[in-house]
Amino acid sequence: MKRSYFDYAASAPIDPAVAEAVAAATSLVGNPSSVHAEGRKLRVAVDSARDAVARLLGVPDAAVTFTSGATEANAIAIIGGCAEAAAAGMDSGPFRILTSPVEHASVRAAVAQAARLGGFAVDIMPVGADGRVDADEAVALIGPQTVMVTMAWANNVLGTVQPVGEVGAAVAAERARRGVGGLPLRFHSDAVQALPSLQVRPADVGIDLLSVSAHKAYGPKGVGALVRLRDAAVEPLYGGGGQEGGIRSGTENVAAIIGFAAAADQLRARRESDAARAAALRERLLAALRAKAPAAGAVGRAETTLPGTAFITLRGVPGDRAAMLLDAAGFAVSAGSACDAGARKAPEALVAAIGPSAAAHGGIRISFGRFTTEEEIDALAEAIASLR
Ligand code: PMP
Repeated sequence: MKRSYFDYAASAPIDPAVAEAVAAATSLVGNPSSVHAEGRKLRVAVDSARDAVARLLGVPDAAVTFTSGATEANAIAIIGGCAEAAAAGMDSGPFRILTSPVEHASVRAAVAQAARLGGFAVDIMPVGADGRVDADEAVALIGPQTVMVTMAWANNVLGTVQPVGEVGAAVAAERARRGVGGLPLRFHSDAVQALPSLQVRPADVGIDLLSVSAHKAYGPKGVGALVRLRDAAVEPLYGGGGQEGGIRSGTENVAAIIGFAAAADQLRARRESDAARAAALRERLLAALRAKAPAAGAVGRAETTLPGTAFITLRGVPGDRAAMLLDAAGFAVSAGSACDAGARKAPEALVAAIGPSAAAHGGIRISFGRFTTEEEIDALAEAIASLR
């Protein structure tokens, strides 16, 4: 049976050219930390990959730390960033972390751990019915004891794009108020979902710490990066060989890093056209559903939703059942977020965004991109229309 893949938000297919680059790099001999010719060749490859990722994000090369993915980048940024801020603030605690209720599980876990380890309090930004943070209310929660603000650039369940610019400006204003030598305040953003389709340039929106992952952006799985701007210091979570400036010890995943760079170069060339295509596909899907599937409803407004994501609720058909039936019919979609799958409860982020009863009924997250065709979209709409 033909399969159609509509779960790019869980992991996008690797671009064939990127896969070739990874395959070629897998057999490279040596360790980038070795000083012999083999090692030096790998060091050059890693540094040139760093340059590619830095250029995509509009940051200096030195700002980029390669990690095993966004989960690790989020943990280092939040746990390591809070530890550093607390150390700098010395006895002036208790400190506070500000976050949203619609964060990825890895961000929520890191916030909980940082709070527990440091005895911090956690403030939660209110969100609207589409999971969008209200910028004014969020900004009002930044207080004199806040050391870390963490809010995703775009949500992984609904695809909602968050007001990063407004929050970034407020963080900068609060930092200016505190002055030189004041309590540190950092703005971290998980840009995993935003990266494949939006201009992600952290310096432009006042972000100090940014997490990205290659596999949501047509790169290989198991590699990502933490970006640090304005000398945002983080305490390493563990030590070892001191790779990546001591922030992330462990031999670099060279082949995956090279693949990440190849994916980054492709994104620079074609992200805009990818995003325009995805937006047209989304519009086509929603129009087909309006015409054929009156029980279907899309969550969120197009202007504040990622072009390649549509969260659909179906009257009369729970999300997990819809996802299962579609899978059997050849369509891979997600009921909520893959990271919450198997938990047998609605993702907390979904509950926060659309309320407990709508979240319990659930919906399907349809996510797509570079390799999705109009024919696949039309066939998916037909299949959804026939769900009972
Ligand atoms: N953040 C978000 C928003 C995500 O969607 C994901 C992937 N589910 C992650 C973090 C985790 O990324 P990784 O798989 O690279 O650890």
